[in-house]
Order: sequence, then structure tokens, then C-alpha cells
Amino acid sequence: MNTTHPVLHVNHVGFRPDDPLKRALVPVASDRIGWLGGETFHGVEVSSLIRHPFGSPEWMAAHHPIRGTRERTPLGEYLVCDLSALSTRGGYQIHHEGSRSVPFMIYRDVWKRCFRLLLEWYRIAACGEAVPGWHEACHLDDGRIADIGKTQDFVGGWHDAGDLRKWTSTMAFVTHSLADFVREYPDPSAVGADPDLVRHQLERAADYLIKTLDPDTGLPWHSIASDVRVPNESGVWTDNIPNSGDEREVKRDTSPATADHCVRAFAGLADWFESRDPERRRAFLSAARRILDSWKNHLQRENQPEDMLDALLALARTDPSPEWRILAAEGLRRLLDRQVHGTCFGQKQFTGFFVRNGMPDENENFQGRGGRNLFRYARRVRQLSRALLLWPAHPESARWKDGLTLLLEGCLEPMTRMSPFRALPACLCLQSDPVPGKRPLSGALCFRYFGIHAEGNNCELAQTAEAFGLAARALADPRWAALGQKQIEWIFGFNPFDCCMMTGLGYSTAAVFSPFVGQIPGAIVGGILGTPHEDQPLLCMNRQLSPMMMEYWSAPTAAVLAALAVLENQPFS
Ligand SMILES: [Zn+2]
Repeated sequence: MNTTHPVLHVNHVGFRPDDPLKRALVPVASDRIGWLGGETFHGVEVSSLIRHPFGSPEWMAAHHPIRGTRERTPLGEYLVCDLSALSTRGGYQIHHEGSRSVPFMIYRDVWKRCFRLLLEWYRIAACGEAVPGWHEACHLDDGRIADIGKTQDFVGGWHDAGDLRKWTSTMAFVTHSLADFVREYPDPSAVGADPDLVRHQLERAADYLIKTLDPDTGLPWHSIASDVRVPNESGVWTDNIPNSGDEREVKRDTSPATADHCVRAFAGLADWFESRDPERRRAFLSAARRILDSWKNHLQRENQPEDMLDALLALARTDPSPEWRILAAEGLRRLLDRQVHGTCFGQKQFTGFFVRNGMPDENENFQGRGGRNLFRYARRVRQLSRALLLWPAHPESARWKDGLTLLLEGCLEPMTRMSPFRALPACLCLQSDPVPGKRPLSGALCFRYFGIHAEGNNCELAQTAEAFGLAARALADPRWAALGQKQIEWIFGFNPFDCCMMTGLGYSTAAVFSPFVGQIPGAIVGGILGTPHEDQPLLCMNRQLSPMMMEYWSAPTAAVLAALAVLENQPFS
């Protein structure tokens, strides 16, 4: 046994007893033949083992033999240990021929231990106030509007990542994730989180985000203390003195994604302040409405209102005005008009995804962060589920339900089966698409497991987990929540590197680190990317390919908070 790098993969936290997809994996060579032609694992209940003498009947009963099966996937060949039958509370380890997995728990509440840690990230990443032991009050001189040289108050928010920048899209993402968490858990102490911390962070979000809005259009400025002139210029501590010359700069730019996240954030804040401060609630609702109006006029794109679905659905959750429902239904109609039914691209194995102009949609021409349309389709799961949950009696709800079921059963679930880890691959494309490292799938369809550019997959997988949890709720079908949990397990060690990508739980050999404050409990890194030409998984400090795989980032941390909040409230079987 190699004690520094176990070859037996299992997530490092554990399993809920009701999880029907408990699995551990051993990568094997394709010519391997097991002992007497079979493969036997043992699920060892360590908590019982230590109380009974070696070899006693009780000791023997703590060893649960599990017959392994073989799974051949384009990602490699694996022995699968399906330990779903184990449901007795306890500490476990999987043994196979001298290899042992990391120890893990089977316990209903085992994943609740993540919440307090995830909220530690919010506390430590806070900008504009002192966090003893981590950093002094910082950036009290944010910032100077670059093109007019005017000093204006942009103090607050959170540091975006392992660096100190403050992109508004991330600020808003962190805010609506926190608001979604408190919707699921109005009393955060139910999951061991500090209610005062949650309240303080929501108030900080409310104070900060309102400062980012353009006085003329109401649209949020995006690049605040972030890459106004050159990349990473704002990754610095400053002297906290306004007009001293080292203020970080602000650009008066915006984008549809920033507008989307801000509407969702203001909707979440309006909900939170409803019983606490009706006047602030009105201000946030009015800010959200103004962003939507300006978005329609200033950020016009071909596929509105499809692009606005998340924003519309978020606002509709707190504001019963019918206009959000009408626009959202229009967006869903346009989306479902583009859904594939039955045979396509010379095959009938995969269906239910979306096309535009004869191509699988939402790959953004594979430029920049494109080539991730399966993750985008998972967001469509979130939108269809939210619409069904909001308006179950809507005249078009049967179509939404059929479309959602077809997307899940025809495309996303079969694509998770391409991975022995059951994590959703990134990209569906055509043989004719200019995608390096694409793998054959079926007919003219190809796929990639991993993105190539920019940050890793953790944020998308966490959003997929949340979407599957919402689908389980909307369709009253627990299997989708169980599949959602697999997406979270990938982040917590059930991945080809046996590496937990959150600091503070599990085991990690990743260089998870912020060069400004050090290791941060609860923080999650960008995650795994693929090598460009082979689509092999990669998790390393490779500045040439991407500096962000092992960098802490607010977005996956916030996305896991929102996803676990939904999943913890859903049955798995
Ligand atoms: Zn700061």
C-alpha cells in the first residue's frame, strides 16, 4: 500500500445513509484479471471494529464484503465498489487487496459540517474591515473612477479570490448564494452556522452592491478594483488613505452576466430585508427592476429573454408582479422551441439538449471560457425547476416538466455515466467543431470532460449539484438529488487526484493558497481543467495553462453553500 497516495478513490467526507449512489473506485489496467477472476472489496466499519477482539464474531461482522464490478469509460478503466447497501451510522474505510481508502462517515448530517466552514470564507474574505489574525482593515480608500479621476466610495464587499480584487459579478454571486442559503435555513444555527455572522455578511453585501450602480442607467459597474488598466494591478494592499495616490481604480463597464447576478442578489436581499427593513426592501426591488429595464435597452442580445431567466425567476420569488412570470414564460418557450427531440446528428442515444442554427447551443464558439455547454444546460435545469416550483399550475407547466425530464434523462444523466465519478462532463460538440482533444460520443456528437481555459470546474459542478437538487424537488424524484450529491463529492476528493479541493475538511495535496492571507478554512479552489489536446485531468500550479486551478475563488465556495443548502433539504431515495 502506498500510504501517501491511496489508489482507492472515495469522497473524503462521507455519505448520507439514504444515498443510493455510494461508490468507491480503483483505477486498473485493462488487462487486469482479479483474484480467481473476481474482485472483492471490504467495507470495514471501523467504529465497530475497535470495540471487539480481533477475529471475534462481532469483529468479523464489521467486514462487509462487496463484490466489485468493472466500468470502462473514456476516462479510464475502474473497479467499482458499490457500497450503497451500507447505511448503519459509523466510521468506515474501504479495503481492496492491501489498499485502503481514506476514512469516511456514514451519517445523516455528515455534510452539514461544511456550512460553518463555507461561511468562514465569507468572514475572512471580507474587504474593508479587520479580520483579526488574517488581515487588518483594508482598502478603505477604494476607489478612483479611472476615466474621470474622481474619488468615490467603493469600500466593502469581499476579496474575489486568492487575490484582493472585487469583480462585481463575484460580489453579486456570493450575495445571492448567501441569500439562497438563508431561504433554505432561515435559522442558520440549524446547520451549525453563526446567525450573527450571516446577518453581518448580508448587511455588508447590501451596503456594498448598491454603490456599484451607475447613476444614469442603474446597471452595475463590473471592474471595481479589478484589472482597469493591466491584469492583477489591484492585487495589492493599499495605505487606506483616500487621495494619497495608491487608490485602486474603477471602470464604468458592465456585462449581461454582471447584470444577471446583481438582479439575483438584489432580489435575495429584498427577500431578506422584507421583515427587517421594508424601506431597504423597496430600494433593492427598485434597483433590480431598474437593472432589468436597462438590460433590455442597453445590453440587447439575440437570445433575450432566455438570458434573463435566472434574474426573472429570482425576482419572481420575492415580487409577485405578473410581468416577471410573463417574461420568464416567454424565455422558457423560446428555449424549449430549440430542444432536440429524438434522433439528431446521426444518433439517437443523446437527446433533450439545445440547438441553434444546426449546432449544439451555448458553447460560445469555444473561445475564452466556451466549450462548457453541458454546464450551461445544467443551468437550464435550475431555471425549469424554479419555474415549476414557482408556478406549478401555469398553463405551460406540463411543457416545462416534459422539457426538464427530457433534458435530464436524455442528455445530462447519460453524460454523467461517461464518468465513473458520475461528474458531469463540460462540453458536447460536433466532429466538425474546432475543439482540440474532443472525444467521440455517438453519431456526429463528440464531447470533452474538462474545460481548457480559465478557472476549473468546481463552480459549474456545484451549480449543477444545486440544479439537480431543485429538479428533485420540482419533479418529486429523489434520484436527481442523489446525482447532485455526486457533483459535490468530486470537489471533496472523489476525483482522479484523490484531492479535496476545500481547505479544512478532507485531505489535500493541492497547493491551495492565497498569497495574501495564506490558507483559508472553507475556501474552495477553481478546480480541475483538462490538457488541451488529450482532455486529461489537470490540477496543478500551471500559470501557462491557467493560474486559477489551485487558486481560491469565491464563486465555487458560494456555489457549494447554495447547493448543499438545497441538497440537505432533499431526500436521496
Ligand atoms: Zn480589502
